[in-house]
Amino acid sequence: MGYKFAEFKGEIYDTYLTQIYCYSLLIKENTGRDVNRGYLVYTRSKNKLVEIPVTSVDLEKVEKTAGEILELVETGILPDTKANIKKCNLCTYSNICVK
Ligand code: SF4
Repeated sequence: MGYKFAEFKGEIYDTYLTQIYCYSLLIKENTGRDVNRGYLVYTRSKNKLVEIPVTSVDLEKVEKTAGEILELVETGILPDTKANIKKCNLCTYSNICVK
């Protein structure tokens, strides 16, 4: 479950989904139990509860990304990047990002 100090406006940020998938993977790895859903609570919308489906594909993506991040940390080699307007529009950091 992820608590957000935010209003629910009908759209769920990809970063929120990733957070739920990461929690799900941690639960699975530490308990051995399958996780098929998580929840977001929007505290500025009267604690609106939104159920997030979690699939094995979601968990595989998170594992793959975690492996890639670990490789970046270990090698110190960073990829070339470009701002992607489509992704930036859904990013929770767009209001503070210097791009
Ligand atoms: S707003 Fe900034 S942090 Fe967010 S996706 Fe775009 S470049 Fe990345």
